Amino acid sequence: MHLNVARIQAEFPLLSREVNGHRLVYLDSAASAQKPQVVIDAESEFYKNGYAAVHRGIHTLSAEATTQMETIRAQVAHFLNAAHSEEIVFVKGATEAINLVANSWGNSQIHPGDNIIITEMEHHSNIVPWQMLAKRMSAELRFIPLTVSGTLDTTQLSLLMDCRTRLLAVTHVSNVLGTKNPIKEIIYQAKLSGVVTLIDGAQGVMHDIVDVQDLDCDFYVFSGHKIYGPSGIGILYGRKSILDLMPPWEGGGSMISTVSLSKGTTYAPVPWIFEAGSPNIGSIIGLGAALKWIVNVGMDVIIDREKELMGYALERLSSIPDIVIYSPSQPVGVIAFNLVAQHAFDVGSFLDHYGIAIRTGHHCAMPLMQYYAVSAMCRASFVIYNNEEEVDRLVHGLMRIRTLLGSRGC
Ligand SMILES: *Cc1c(COP(=O)(O)O)cnc(C)c1O
Repeated sequence: MHLNVARIQAEFPLLSREVNGHRLVYLDSAASAQKPQVVIDAESEFYKNGYAAVHRGIHTLSAEATTQMETIRAQVAHFLNAAHSEEIVFVKGATEAINLVANSWGNSQIHPGDNIIITEMEHHSNIVPWQMLAKRMSAELRFIPLTVSGTLDTTQLSLLMDCRTRLLAVTHVSNVLGTKNPIKEIIYQAKLSGVVTLIDGAQGVMHDIVDVQDLDCDFYVFSGHKIYGPSGIGILYGRKSILDLMPPWEGGGSMISTVSLSKGTTYAPVPWIFEAGSPNIGSIIGLGAALKWIVNVGMDVIIDREKELMGYALERLSSIPDIVIYSPSQPVGVIAFNLVAQHAFDVGSFLDHYGIAIRTGHHCAMPLMQYYAVSAMCRASFVIYNNEEEVDRLVHGLMRIRTLLGSRGC
């Protein structure tokens, strides 16, 4: 199906602004995506006409807000093809989701001498909570290594797993390289050995159809702000049979059934047991609108169009002399590169003068930078609202950097 990219772009008000006298070219959606008008409107409409605390009152507004929140929970379950709405936990983001699992599941299931497997390409959010857990529990952290082409060396998995392996946590798509990992095969292999699996979907869920039942993963996490939704909201999907056995993590209101000063507390059932405190209802409503927007565009349409644009971007970037591209041959969403003899920060700030926003730095993946022996990389990310002309402006900007350098005789 053909997609009208200009019409998609027009739905994102921020994309029409200027930066430094140039029309913005926003190539940093992997850090955070811009929001379509429908998301902004849904949240704004809620604050104007429907706002109230959820779970607390029997008055009309509170009941309506509660119903909306639970409707969106069901909508998220449908989006991920989860078997039950109760498998969807509202959290602040992917980071909080992983910390929830590490603290609740981890503290109760990991014992001294156990091991946890992650990979060398994880975001800090999928490294640090496991390091902290391993330290708390005297467990060991193991890593699936990278290959020189920027993919995972999954042949190592069978060597890393043993009878003390309890959890395997791996990213769906690398936020630095754009590598799409063979998560279904990895999950299958882990399952054969009874290992619990967590997929960090923060860079996967906006570029791929996610079907948690087909994947057969135990946990899948993502953040709203990277999938055209608001900040401060994210999703933990957890297999119900596992969530049911997990102890609460944070205590407070909303997660209890009864509280007695003398007899202690009984807890609400899954998923509310994991949602202590007042939820971020405004952002939940925005997330619902974002997922609806994606479904309306069509994930299969998004996948096809992004593949076409990524192919074009990779080809054009590859044509620049003295560029080093770190991404594998068919990256998803992002392309990581450096210009020889140019620090990524200089490249990033030069491009910013031309209104082109890319990401520079370690991308919250310092171990990956260490693998490539660089302190920083440039990362351009491409999503459904980007187009070929923006790729050309990026390439033009990078070529200018080379020309200016040449004229200075460096
Ligand atoms: C952004 C990101 C995270 C963390 O997401 P937050 O929204 O900061 O919680 C985790 N993993 C990957 C792969 C990411 O890209």
